[in-house]
Amino acid sequence: MKRASTICPYCGTGCNIYLTSKNGRVTGVYPSQHNDINSAKLCVKGWNIPEFIAHADRLKKPLIRKNGKLAECEWEEALDFTAQRLLNIKTKYSPDTIAIIGSARCTNEELYLTQKFARAVIGTNNVDHCARICHAPTVTGLIASLGSGGMTNPIEDIKNAKTILLIGGNPFEAHPIIAGHMIDAVDNKTELIVADPRRTRLCDFAQMHLPLRPGSDLALINAMAKVIVDEDLVDKAFIKNHTEKYEEFKESLKNFSLEEAQSITGIAKEEIIAAARKYATCKPSSIIYTLGITEHYTGTANVRALANLTLLTGNIGKPGTGINPLRGQNNVQGGCDMGVAPFILPGYAPIASLCENKSDMEAIKKHEAVCRVPFSLQEGLMTPQMIESALNGDIKAMWVMGEDLLTTEANANKTQKAFESLDFLAVSDLFLTPTAQMADVVFPACSFAEKEGTFTNTERRVQRINKAIEPLGESKSDLEIITLLSLKMNYIMKYNNCEEVFEEMKSLTPQYAGITYNELESQRGIQWPCLQEGSKGTPILHSKGIARGKGEFCFSEYIEPKETPDEQFPFYLSTGRILFHYNCGSMSGRTTRLAREFSENFVMIHPADARRLGIEEHDEVVVSTRRGEITVRAKITDETAPGLLWMPINFYKSRTNLLTNDAMDEKSGVSEVKVCAAAIKRSKK
Ligand code: SF4
Repeated sequence: MKRASTICPYCGTGCNIYLTSKNGRVTGVYPSQHNDINSAKLCVKGWNIPEFIAHADRLKKPLIRKNGKLAECEWEEALDFTAQRLLNIKTKYSPDTIAIIGSARCTNEELYLTQKFARAVIGTNNVDHCARICHAPTVTGLIASLGSGGMTNPIEDIKNAKTILLIGGNPFEAHPIIAGHMIDAVDNKTELIVADPRRTRLCDFAQMHLPLRPGSDLALINAMAKVIVDEDLVDKAFIKNHTEKYEEFKESLKNFSLEEAQSITGIAKEEIIAAARKYATCKPSSIIYTLGITEHYTGTANVRALANLTLLTGNIGKPGTGINPLRGQNNVQGGCDMGVAPFILPGYAPIASLCENKSDMEAIKKHEAVCRVPFSLQEGLMTPQMIESALNGDIKAMWVMGEDLLTTEANANKTQKAFESLDFLAVSDLFLTPTAQMADVVFPACSFAEKEGTFTNTERRVQRINKAIEPLGESKSDLEIITLLSLKMNYIMKYNNCEEVFEEMKSLTPQYAGITYNELESQRGIQWPCLQEGSKGTPILHSKGIARGKGEFCFSEYIEPKETPDEQFPFYLSTGRILFHYNCGSMSGRTTRLAREFSENFVMIHPADARRLGIEEHDEVVVSTRRGEITVRAKITDETAPGLLWMPINFYKSRTNLLTNDAMDEKSGVSEVKVCAAAIKRSKK
């Protein structure tokens, strides 16, 4: 029996685990006993990791499309074919007709090479990853307000907060170990305010639940800011020394009343006042949020509005405070840090103007020197723009690594049509996902258990992963696939091991500059920024002053969601995650104990609505929106509010994203998957 120390491949909490293995198979998993994240604990997904690794559906040989069907082939043939197609398209059209999607389940080293492949081998900034469908507004919004896009305080610091404002997040289902930290804090007298349209499980532990109307977050947060300013609950010294544009912001708050906020949000103004007072006076106060804030047409404005609250009250840069976005996939923080985005390089150096900055020419020159080629300064396309461009013929080829865009992108029918329009689609994955089924070439990638490298969790902690078993079948790591394909395209990426990739990456990524593999092992991870070797990293951001110099107040007026209920579609539809499944479900859906809890998609409906429509528990119902319809089972529960339907996004066999709205937040590119208008009726079957 062997034992490897590694990191859970599911959510961004980054729980420390050991995998045991025997004869090339992972036989078990258990949590590390002593660490700041999950000492001796795992959630149900973590405990059930081993099964998907060796699942019979794992791809073990490359596939290539012949006569319309995917058939097994040798690696040489798959790589030669892909290289030839990409080179032909690049030459015939231009590098900017090719787009690359990286995976938030890849290591930092692989993600660094993903963007290097796009920029140095293809010659385009058309590179993106799944942050576009989750926390892109966090990166854009927090960088603009504070100068850094990461979670400000560590997970273990949650216990130091006297008040927690949890808004647009359901950690009980999506980040269970972090929910445990919050419940421990409440046990120690922390006051918890939950703002969520649904009565989520943490409401049972909260002092206040604000069941706001879907998509009205901005009105609620602005109203809280107004109360804090009007009642003079602000931290005057902090505002004077550490912020700018306060007077403009204060003026903007005069343009609406609490009565208006009440009518928009559905929350009584007395409740809004009480929540604002608690956040501003029962300090230190921490804000924790997830996709209920970001996945909106106003996602970036929502994030900046939350940053305003921290700046008004000085709840930042100290223990128990901060603005804390919980990242979804295990290495989505790393994906952002590594510059797998169309307008930033590793370390967030801007390559174009979307972050309201100019290109950082010094950083670009450094990358060009290491990569030995000039970089394009043309801003690349974000994922929804790639989809749009594929539809209109401007994108001809895509390589999608480890993501199932057909399940995870809003308005899935549109994504499907976009893939059908491509001249060439390559996919790397563990399984033949709906996206892989559309590919011309499929590369069998290996799982986290079969590779070395680093992941960066939601609290910016860079952690080592170690190989437990050799790659199954002929599967290869994404690092190997990228370097082999580069070679076929006449660009040499030569590394003897992944530590050499890490060393190259950190020479170009200031936040990682002081991190070494040795230190990562001995310190159980390091939180960036870690600017020089020997530093212990930075558990709390902005503790020595706001990263951008001064925090910038920014007022955005409330705008209602792109779709609201009407006669034809009389319900709000919102979406999210469930405890037993993860992302597109390709791994959790192939795990018996997880699948038996929830084996199929469902829709939550309030008992009063169900009664009115003659729907009974477990009935087959048709849920429809302007983009499509699906048939699922009804789950009748007062967890959801009257007039609100709620569906999970985790089932690739019944895709909720066939229904969701791809209306895009222009600043960040995120789609408004959290709210659209929908109808529901009993199925005739
Ligand atoms: Fe894995 Fe997240 Fe569960 Fe921890 S909380 S065991 S990281 S899924």
